[in-house]
Amino acid sequence: MQKKNRGSQKRGSALFSYGRSDAPRMICRGGLRTAPSRLAMTLDEKVRKTLGELGVADAAGVEALFAEVRAAIEAERASLISCGAASESERDKLCKDLRDRWLARKNGILSSIDERWLKTSPRELKPSVGRSFNTLRRESAGLEIAELTRDVPLRAHAAAVDNLSAGDSGTAVVSHIIREVPGDLTLPGNRRPLGSLHPVTQMQREIEEIFLNLGFQIESGPEIESVHYNFDALNIPESHPSRDDWDTLYIDSQTVLRTHTSPVQIRSMEKYGAPLHIIIPGKCYRHDNPDASHSPMFHQIEGLAIASDITFADLKGTLDFFAKKLFGETIRTRFQPSFFPFTEPSGEVSISCIFCAGVGCRVCKESGWIEVMGCGMVHPQVLRNGGIDPEKYSGWAFGLGVDRFAMMKYDINDIQLFFQSDVRFLLQF
Ligand SMILES: [Zn+2]
Repeated sequence: MQKKNRGSQKRGSALFSYGRSDAPRMICRGGLRTAPSRLAMTLDEKVRKTLGELGVADAAGVEALFAEVRAAIEAERASLISCGAASESERDKLCKDLRDRWLARKNGILSSIDERWLKTSPRELKPSVGRSFNTLRRESAGLEIAELTRDVPLRAHAAAVDNLSAGDSGTAVVSHIIREVPGDLTLPGNRRPLGSLHPVTQMQREIEEIFLNLGFQIESGPEIESVHYNFDALNIPESHPSRDDWDTLYIDSQTVLRTHTSPVQIRSMEKYGAPLHIIIPGKCYRHDNPDASHSPMFHQIEGLAIASDITFADLKGTLDFFAKKLFGETIRTRFQPSFFPFTEPSGEVSISCIFCAGVGCRVCKESGWIEVMGCGMVHPQVLRNGGIDPEKYSGWAFGLGVDRFAMMKYDINDIQLFFQSDVRFLLQF
């Protein structure tokens, strides 16, 4: 700030500061402007003295004195305009202060000149003082509030900060901002609530983590999928009920919203060949009416392992390990035969009920088991469709519903809660 003050003195365009202690002073960039020291007597002091006391004895002296006054008016006016105002209310005040300083009927500089210079002037100087005073009056019309308000710009805060010179210290910039920005910067800021991961996303990441640690990779694919990848390549025949309009959302006859993440299995086989260890998380869509256990959009994770000597025992071991990692070491798994067009043999995996530890309760319908996913050895035709030779390679696959897992884990009884964006619900995670 010290440095800035010296700078403005050197520029000499002092504003409201001709040494009058009660003169309104303006804060502009660079802080308070102080009186130029080169003047022996300030203008504010001069207007309180008579021409005689000032030693003005001829017309040339009068003219020089009034020229100084007009220059001061011009300088103060120009300085206010170049500084601008941060707000309309600040502009109103600055304009009124400048106007009153010069034009106020009582104590204004022009009144003072009228009293001290004109009325008391010696007879021989009166015509010249009168002429100069009239000129001054005319020219000071630019100090009227309406004139000033029209010319003083409202400055954008950012532009004002840009105008601070490169040498300004951080303190100067901050104090400038504190002056220019309305409000109290020492108050704490507005806190915006931080969101958290959606419970389905949390569940998905937890499952992903387990398989990533087993050496699987994450793959993804399009949600708008061709009938070829969604059905044909997965060995799902034209006549299969899942291809019906009542189960599948069709974009057109050859394009669907994928009904499972399995198309990415084919895409990955084509892309990478064998061996292959991937999991495929993602959104799926089915023509289901929303209810407590159905949603037209839901989340799946599928796993696929293809290698030269893979057996059903690897599948069982992997999924048993996964269930214990996710739900705890005491969890047991049960595999029962099932049917899917894309696996042979196929199975359904149940885990011992996590609510009653297998004793039997309402959730497991007193069976002690909860069915959690489908699985099986990849059908040889599916391997072939993915460009992999079933004579050389075998593989297994599984698929599970992430939403269902999250419902189990968090004991949520309605899948709709996940997708209603009710913050009261989401805040619990
Ligand atoms: Zn149970």
